[in-house]
Amino acid sequence: MGIKVAKFGGSSVADAIQIRKLEKIVNEDSERRFLVVSAPGKRFDNDSKITDLLYSCMMHRDHNLPYENLFQVICDRFTALYVSLGIDMDIMKELDTIKENIDRGATKDYLASRGEYLNAKIIANFLGMEFIDAADVILFDEKGRFMEKETNERLKEELLKHDKALIPGFYGSKPNGDIKTFSRGGSDITGALVARAVDAEIYENWTDVSGFLMADPRVVENPQPIEEISYKELRELAYMGASVLHEDAIYPAKISHIPINIRNTNEPADRGTIIAEEFDTNSKRVITGIAGSKNFTVIALYKNKLSTERGFLRKLAGILEDMDIPLEHMPSGIDTISVVIKNDSLEGKTEELVDEIKRQLQPETVEIIDDMALIATVGKGMSYKPGVSAKLFTALAEAGVNIRMIDQGSSEINIIIGVQNEDFEKSIKAIYNAFI
Ligand code: ASP
Repeated sequence: MGIKVAKFGGSSVADAIQIRKLEKIVNEDSERRFLVVSAPGKRFDNDSKITDLLYSCMMHRDHNLPYENLFQVICDRFTALYVSLGIDMDIMKELDTIKENIDRGATKDYLASRGEYLNAKIIANFLGMEFIDAADVILFDEKGRFMEKETNERLKEELLKHDKALIPGFYGSKPNGDIKTFSRGGSDITGALVARAVDAEIYENWTDVSGFLMADPRVVENPQPIEEISYKELRELAYMGASVLHEDAIYPAKISHIPINIRNTNEPADRGTIIAEEFDTNSKRVITGIAGSKNFTVIALYKNKLSTERGFLRKLAGILEDMDIPLEHMPSGIDTISVVIKNDSLEGKTEELVDEIKRQLQPETVEIIDDMALIATVGKGMSYKPGVSAKLFTALAEAGVNIRMIDQGSSEINIIIGVQNEDFEKSIKAIYNAFI
């Protein structure tokens, strides 16, 4: 019998109603033996996540502002859970300890982690499952760097002792016992680490959407779900802004060949999206998804005989590195080369960058286009298939979109185009309609 690791995100554990859905999902399948939970998230649009409230308490404390009312909101949410779920634990004692620790100057990471800690204790109690404190099994070094190998060994050793257990996500501890958190959304990473340690058959990531959609539903009406996606395709889409899963959660699952299944706690019958190494299907689907973002700047250089000039690229990359400006793409022609940079990364630096380029590289012209949107059309079904680009560009031409940049990696799973910001939505719709 295989083991399933199920991680439930903030919205899936936001209140007692959601936790009862979790209970049903867990009880339905005895292979769901190890659970990882987030802190209670938003119950409705304008609600606050417990983690955000905890960070707020800390900021108030650090600025010598009263935070009692804020802390009370946290207490009220946990007490409501405790009452509605009818569990048996001294919740007041736990909350008092947290409050005392805040008053004594507890660290930001300690405080941020308490949402996961308390929620996991409550849910473990409600389900009658054993609770394992993440501080004992997720390990960071004294400088706060995650210790992958040591964590895997410790987790394996501990989890072997349990038939079923529940672990809070998002945090671990340093050798001196101080709590350290992953970056925001890091419970996904804990889930992947647990899956790896127990050699799970599947890592289920339960959230509030039924997996990935082929395009942003704010742009394309009712886009089709993505049933299967490879890690490589996901990386391409996530890089362009499609996000459901913390990107560091992919690595532990990928290296141990564990598929990740994104599922919807509110629609448990939906199959969701499966992310895995490769799919052995003869799917007729050419593209897997379309994603993109706005607000990039293109700096286009023209210089006669540029392609034969030694060291041109190195110098250009060196200028960007010296100015600490990350480069997104570098499309080139015979006598032209362009650098594509996020507007945010350039803020206040454009003039200096252009001066430096002119000084060191002496181009004949430098053109700056600062309202560019990038769109990635991703799909392993595109590789070695003639006519895909033709279809894509015809669709854009018919929609009246002027394409300002084209970039295709040699793996052929991705075509990136640059269009003006104002053509962004129109382009995504045109590509979607051409292929789906
Ligand atoms: N509660 C943390 C956050 O809001 C971690 C998580 O939910 O994954 O970022």
